[in-house]
Amino acid sequence: MRLRLVARHMTPHPLGSPFVREQLALRATPLNEKRLQPDGEYILYWMQATQRFEDNWALRYATLEADRIGKPLLIHHGLDPHYAHASPRIHTFIMQGARELAARAATLGLTYRFALRRRIADDGRVVDRLASRACVVVTDLFPTAGIAERSARVAARVNCRVVAVDSLGVVAAGSFHKEEYAARTIRPKIAALLDYSLQPVEDRPPSRALPSSLLDSLDVAWLDIGSCDIRAEVAQCEIDRTVAEVETRGGLATARARLAAFAASGLHDYAARRRNPSDEGGSSHLSAHLHVGMISPYEIVAAVRAAASAEQSQAFLGEMLTWRELSFNFCLRNQHYASLAALPDWVGRSMDAHAKDPREAIYTLEELETASTHDEIWNAGQRELVQTGQMHNVVRMLWGKAVITWAPTYADALAWLIHLNNKYGLDGRDANSFAGIQWCFGKFDRPFPTRPVWGTIRPMSLQRAHQKYDMKGYLRRWASTSEKQLEAFGGAT
Ligand SMILES: Cc1cc2nc3c(=O)[nH]c(=O)nc-3n(C[C@H](O)[C@H](O)[C@H](O)COP(=O)(O)OP(=O)(O)OC[C@H]3O[C@@H](n4cnc5c(N)ncnc54)[C@H](O)[C@@H]3O)c2cc1C
Repeated sequence: MRLRLVARHMTPHPLGSPFVREQLALRATPLNEKRLQPDGEYILYWMQATQRFEDNWALRYATLEADRIGKPLLIHHGLDPHYAHASPRIHTFIMQGARELAARAATLGLTYRFALRRRIADDGRVVDRLASRACVVVTDLFPTAGIAERSARVAARVNCRVVAVDSLGVVAAGSFHKEEYAARTIRPKIAALLDYSLQPVEDRPPSRALPSSLLDSLDVAWLDIGSCDIRAEVAQCEIDRTVAEVETRGGLATARARLAAFAASGLHDYAARRRNPSDEGGSSHLSAHLHVGMISPYEIVAAVRAAASAEQSQAFLGEMLTWRELSFNFCLRNQHYASLAALPDWVGRSMDAHAKDPREAIYTLEELETASTHDEIWNAGQRELVQTGQMHNVVRMLWGKAVITWAPTYADALAWLIHLNNKYGLDGRDANSFAGIQWCFGKFDRPFPTRPVWGTIRPMSLQRAHQKYDMKGYLRRWASTSEKQLEAFGGAT
């Protein structure tokens, strides 16, 4: 059985072919030195960051291992209440996606189970117990969102081998041995490997099914994600209730619908439309689904190439391949990705020289969080983020840059931006989150002529944004309630 449709003109590589083995050699990293347990009863794929069955290299690795040693495969996907910024927004999105996975697993010959740990005091050792009966644990490689740390802790505790497998980008992250300096340094490397990396793979389920008696004997209270009331389940979870669920639905179906709509109408003039904050259809709105791996970047590339010419799709693929894979490279190769230490030396020197420059305004984190600054564009962006879990890319750049001039120190500015972006963004906690925020501070960039506070960091002005971009529709959409009321009364005061 095939898990994905492949391009008609290309014969897909069977699982275990030289191409697949080469890719897995680049993509799989052992997290401990423990041995495979031959007496184990199954291969455990602990799904964390790649919440899909298509183009999932961890699932491919696990399937090959299962068949090699003649064991069945169990896919376990768990959701805990204590990841950073756990909220109904993120929980609901993930559970909607999990419901679709559960519905599709059986038809694909896969055994998938989802567990919800509602309270911190509840059973926190499900993976350990499942690992104690496994031959090997396979999980997803992911540099941020606490996933690498959680995987390393489990790998240290359990008795079997734990392997993390990269399904991050189209080109294996292991192809880039060092931290890349900028988009211009990674771009030609991605271009050289792209067609090779895009070769389709013919997936199939593991040969041996997992007996239901074995599943029943595992001491795990899996959730019936197919029929539970997701809202009621989320309401029982010990998470930050101030960050509410949003309209964007989790799951492959929504992601595919967004991709189809974008390929049909947003792709052709993406470069221009993406620069217009008032144009809601100017980008794909796929970042949240990409963040949790609900849709495969391979599928996006194929859809985009089918819908538009190479020239028309270039700008979009530049973002989705170059910048996204640069972000993963940054967070995988630079352990300081969340601190100012990640920035180039010229930024450090500039910050030392301008640390004491008087700031344009000083706000507290609370004032920022409640969109209470003097600037209407900034406040509108913050409202969009809080209310929808996303923010237009142009506004996000302006939003990030402005905080550099409004926080008491550069370190505060960075910490506050990470907090706001990751707490409210449905796509937050991603490698893109840290790369995007660090870009505001000069990462991947070059020095500019010196200015107060900015030093040699590229400045961006909220005042000039009105001339540069079409802000009217955006500001109308994200005006505060009192601003909207004022407008309804014809602007009278
Ligand atoms: C301060 C700041 C914070 C950011 N935080 C995040 C974040 O938390 N999560 C996140 O995914 N992106 C983040 N970005 C990058 C970018 O703003 C978003 O990826 C993009 O706006 C998402 O909208 P879209 O899905 O419609 O993108 P599209 O324009 O349709 O692009 C398609 C995909 O390409 C990737 N992409 C697009 N632009 C970039 C970029 N500049 N860098 C890296 N990848 C990109 C994303 O995965 C995106 O979904 C941030 C940028 C800045 C300046």
